[in-house]
Amino acid sequence: MPSTRSELLRHLAPTSPSPVGLTIERAQGIYMYGPDGRRYMDLIAGISVSNVGHCHPRVVQAVQQQAATHMHLMVYGEYVQNIQLQFAERIVSDLPAGLTSVYFVNSGSEAVEGAIKLAKRVTGRSGLVAFKDAYHGSSNGALSLMGNEAYKGPFYPLLPDVRHIRLNEMDDLRLIDRSVAAVFLETIQGEAGVRIPAIAFMKALRQRCSQVGALLVLDEIQCGFGRTGSMFAFEQFDIVPDVMVIAKGMGGGMPIGAFVASHQLMETLSHDPILGHITTFGGHPVSCAAGLAALHVLEEEQLVQQVPRKEALFREHLKHPAIREVRGRGLLLAIQLDSFAQLTAAIDRCISCGIVTDWFLFCNDAMRIAPPLTISDDEIIEACQIIVSAIDSATK
Ligand code: PMP
Repeated sequence: MPSTRSELLRHLAPTSPSPVGLTIERAQGIYMYGPDGRRYMDLIAGISVSNVGHCHPRVVQAVQQQAATHMHLMVYGEYVQNIQLQFAERIVSDLPAGLTSVYFVNSGSEAVEGAIKLAKRVTGRSGLVAFKDAYHGSSNGALSLMGNEAYKGPFYPLLPDVRHIRLNEMDDLRLIDRSVAAVFLETIQGEAGVRIPAIAFMKALRQRCSQVGALLVLDEIQCGFGRTGSMFAFEQFDIVPDVMVIAKGMGGGMPIGAFVASHQLMETLSHDPILGHITTFGGHPVSCAAGLAALHVLEEEQLVQQVPRKEALFREHLKHPAIREVRGRGLLLAIQLDSFAQLTAAIDRCISCGIVTDWFLFCNDAMRIAPPLTISDDEIIEACQIIVSAIDSATK
């Protein structure tokens, strides 16, 4: 049982020289517990995964039941597995008419890879457009879309024909031309430090894509499943994408992802060649059961409807002269400070006071606030008091 950073790194490959290194033995609701019984309030939800909280009883029960019924049977797309059908139907029931066909995969990056291939197959084009400071995943195709040179430079060559444009810059839309297969955009950018497109920009982007025949792919991997106050963030922009990619909160804590499009687009992956995109574990039945249960929880506990009130509560209580801005939508918020040094001192302080928060990959002077949507009003107020006092001591 690893209890220190050095033990963590003895046989597990590292992702950075300085992992958080907390030992967590169990988790329930918005709390995680260490070996000494130490309790941590989870304000990042495993990076926007545990939207219904950790180990929600309904999700645990669904997992146990499905594990005892059947687990893996056959590669994705061959057998009729009732739980996959139910989950896909439930996802589609929340979507506009054009989004009817769900291709299940295992993760966000894989959903993005599938969407890249779909766009190339449908349009016969190779060009891709993404945005400055975009994050769509770490696999080669998804990394090609990343809008940050420092993080992708050492991995060249990546996919050719990728252009990056600026969010909310109408002029840049001209770079989307008839060589472009798809434009990828996080509906609300996460790792950029929570950046929100203007509605007018989104509408112009939608129009430009339709005009030149490029698919618009919206990445709802971090902002989907209720986090920003609607089931999917794009609902707030009055546009419909051609393809949506989802993962993270989708599985209620289990690994699963999907790309979603119309039947007409999706059927192109089934011929010329047949089996144009395949996955062994995509749509794992236990993950589907967990995801379906999590959707029931979101609905029954009316969690999405409560998000705007909870956002307002955070904003009301996150007041301090060192806070430059509280940015974001719903329960995907960034507290802007002045420097990485201030931020890391504040994060360390929060952790020592029992609150787990984090930074953003491409915005290392803002604190990430993305708790389970189940967080109560009292817990929000308590969290804010601790954060404000941590910021106070970190900026003195
Ligand atoms: N897109 C977005 C917007 C993400 O935030 C992430 C994960 N942080 C991904 C894609 C990649 O998902 P995964 O880590 O499951 O591959």
